[in-house]
Amino acid sequence: DRTGDDRPVEEETMASFDEALAAATAVAGSVPKGLYIDGEWRPAQGGKALAVEDPATGSVIAEVADASVADALDALAAADRAQHAWAATAPRERGEVLRRAFELMVARRDDLAGLMTLEMGKAFAESQAEVSYAAEFLRWFAEEAVRIDGGYLAAPGGGSRVLLMRQPVGPCLLITPWNFPMAMGTRKIGPALAAGCTVVVKPAKQTPLSMLALVGILEEAGVPRGVVNLFTTARAGAASSALLDDARLRKVSFTGSTEVGRTLLSQAANRVLRTSMELGGNAPFLVFDDADLDLAIEGAVQAKMRNVGEACTAANRFYVQRSVVDRFVAGLAERLGSLRVGHGLDPATDVGPLIDGNAVKSVGELVADATAAGAKVVTGGAAIAGDGYFFAPTVLSGVPGEARTVREEIFGPVAPVVAFDAEDEAVGMANASEYGLASYVFTENLARGLRVSERLESGMVGLNQGIISNPAAPFGGVKQSGLGREGGRVGIDEYLNIKYTAVRAN
Ligand code: NAD
Repeated sequence: DRTGDDRPVEEETMASFDEALAAATAVAGSVPKGLYIDGEWRPAQGGKALAVEDPATGSVIAEVADASVADALDALAAADRAQHAWAATAPRERGEVLRRAFELMVARRDDLAGLMTLEMGKAFAESQAEVSYAAEFLRWFAEEAVRIDGGYLAAPGGGSRVLLMRQPVGPCLLITPWNFPMAMGTRKIGPALAAGCTVVVKPAKQTPLSMLALVGILEEAGVPRGVVNLFTTARAGAASSALLDDARLRKVSFTGSTEVGRTLLSQAANRVLRTSMELGGNAPFLVFDDADLDLAIEGAVQAKMRNVGEACTAANRFYVQRSVVDRFVAGLAERLGSLRVGHGLDPATDVGPLIDGNAVKSVGELVADATAAGAKVVTGGAAIAGDGYFFAPTVLSGVPGEARTVREEIFGPVAPVVAFDAEDEAVGMANASEYGLASYVFTENLARGLRVSERLESGMVGLNQGIISNPAAPFGGVKQSGLGREGGRVGIDEYLNIKYTAVRAN
């Protein structure tokens, strides 16, 4: 349980696939489909709509509003109008709104999870885990809202005193990806609201329903009008350019690809906007010959297969010491080869579909590139024919270091394995990437574990564990994986400016 919540989970009888699908479809039907601007749900100007698909079948499950640039600017105007009063709202009151939203998410976990699986694909149990994890950020920042402190200090020469305070940055644009449609939202909305910022949220077009449901919950929890605004659109670039050009916007926080992050950073430079960037990754997974190999294989399954490999923290390349590489490959292939692939709402499913046809195509191309360069397919290796966007869990051995699958973010269920001989060589290969988000190290030698953790150029390291996400931890990357941290005690700082008043004291 990654939430740190130790309340017992009630035993429930599991719904059949048909029942689960019917329930999730009903939830999808009941979610508001409009834009949420200034406390009102409304259609897009011009009445355009955007279709949402079930990636397991390719069929359309809903249509949501497709906002115009003018709608996006209305959302910012509402956020701007609400900013002063929200910043002046008592910290406890801001926290209580988040706390109530947390309670509602927990109470409705299974409905939200079914909805998420329906539009995003991941297996239902993983969606349940994401809803709990996402809710946890609202609880965490509900608690942080009352801990925004300052300081008092004396000038080195005496005399003048300095009074430090931290104040909300102002209206924020929050842009989120489709892979963790709720957690990437609450990890931004939670600290922004706690800090006293108003927000305009723009979810990914593939998974708007999860965010619409989340914003519905925030509304129910008592968020005042204009404090949270949401627009869904098929034209993210045009809308965000207009917002980034507008003097009322004070910050953009983005989670998504490095490519789009770079564009947003250059646009943000025009107005010297505050930015937070959670971008792509290419996590190395190092297994030394002194590792507990069963533990390493278990960690590899988690780090690779969580979210069907569509995670920025996903293990992207496995470097395994030569004396244990055959055993590791055989063990991992056995585990991945026995996973049941199917509709995420089917209780028999371990692994759901990829997000769309493009994802299946690009994962297939990476596998083809590796095999052309001499890699061997140990299990999987191909898309699964039929409806939906499925790719078989895949292990590749003997992958050359220059293969694209080692250099690029795979975002799918493919585990390329490369053998190494010495520690220095492994660290060198791990660090030979422009990315630096997560990395993983498996060794039973504590000194080596710490030494290698220190040398790895990444924002986060999993030492003998394949899951690193934790609401108490400052999530984020180095190099081209991003700027800033989300979650933990520092997560709120991204939404606060430091200011001081210098006071004559003599
Ligand atoms: P993406 O960059 O295509 O899209 C992310 C968001 O940006 C979506 O809401 C999209 O609509 C919007 N967007 C697209 N073009 C835009 C533009 N020109 N201007 C403004 N917004 C634009 O990424 P994706 O495919 O949705 O997500 C996958 C990527 O996200 C991967 O690279 C993954 O590593 C990364 N990711 C990173 C983290 C992290 O915390 N570091 C977490 C999850 C995902």
